[in-house]
Amino acid sequence: DRIISSEVSNYDEQFELSLRPQKLNQYIGQQKVKDSLKIFIEAAKLRQESLDHVLLYGPPGLGKTTLASIIANEMNVNIRMTSGPAIERPGDLAAIVSSLEPGDVLFIDEIHRLSRSIEEVLYPAMEDFCLDIVIGKGNEARTIRYDLPPFTLVGATTRAGALSAPFRDRFGVMLRLDYYDEQSLIEIVIRSANLFEVDIESSAAKEIARRSRGTPRIANRLLKRVRDYAQVIGDGIISLPIANQALQLLQVDPLGLDHIDHKLLKSMIEGFQGGPVGLDTLAASIGEERVTIEDVYEPYLMQIGFIQRTPRGRVATQLAYEHFGYSQQT
Ligand code: ADP
Repeated sequence: DRIISSEVSNYDEQFELSLRPQKLNQYIGQQKVKDSLKIFIEAAKLRQESLDHVLLYGPPGLGKTTLASIIANEMNVNIRMTSGPAIERPGDLAAIVSSLEPGDVLFIDEIHRLSRSIEEVLYPAMEDFCLDIVIGKGNEARTIRYDLPPFTLVGATTRAGALSAPFRDRFGVMLRLDYYDEQSLIEIVIRSANLFEVDIESSAAKEIARRSRGTPRIANRLLKRVRDYAQVIGDGIISLPIANQALQLLQVDPLGLDHIDHKLLKSMIEGFQGGPVGLDTLAASIGEERVTIEDVYEPYLMQIGFIQRTPRGRVATQLAYEHFGYSQQT
């Protein structure tokens, strides 16, 4: 497993739960998102209505699932969690929505992976809080309409563009999560260190934050590994030298890039003269899936200006050349 993968692993699950903020005021950063949510939540509470459906989108590990449970906590309702790939048949969805209590939050992660037939069951559920169930076949077929309690659908996706336009339009609130700035990540690292009851120097928190690719999930994971190192090699306190040694051992470079990023960038620079190179060619050359490059590796490399997308393919920039000590781009 990649230590800096922004995707959740089984290993993470338990400790992530223990670090997850419960209320909006514990959620660090993403000020614009918090400001809008606060207003929507307060308005819904004043009107004693369920909150509008919310679509959260942005790269993995930025806190979409966390926000969904915060929404439920702030609204004082229950949350049901599922994911696009877990809902295989319309009946699966019908079973879930019909078990909701009034006002509950239904969280669907990876909502772009719902099949079209399920999306269609979801439309009347979202719009009119009802289910249209077809019973019988052929000439005998009839549609029966069931009423549902009002509920809030919170969808999360890494690719809002993969949702059909009519589906997207049914969300009253669309919020985009961005990579976190360094200051917010420092706060997240310090907050988590406090929850772990481990001492951390602010310079060490800053170093971990810098290498976390703007992603809280990675910050927490790096912190956990650095803490282990501090306990085994040092005196348990996370100082800057301890953090640096541990991060070096984990092969996470000063910008938070690991061997796969290195492989990808070096392949572009050495194998394709810096590009343009098509995504499929690049994927084949480093033995990774195209979607993994597109969804997981590339967004951060673009964010820090190492890769550019052009109509003819991906291009490695001057910054990438410099990072690896290559001479001027030709
Ligand atoms: P996503 O659903 O976008 O993949 P998660 O909500 O699972 O991401 O977040 C991953 C972990 O990062 C959470 O367990 C939580 O501890 C931490 N986290 C995310 N966002 C924040 C935040 N704004 N403040 C503090 N911790 C956060």
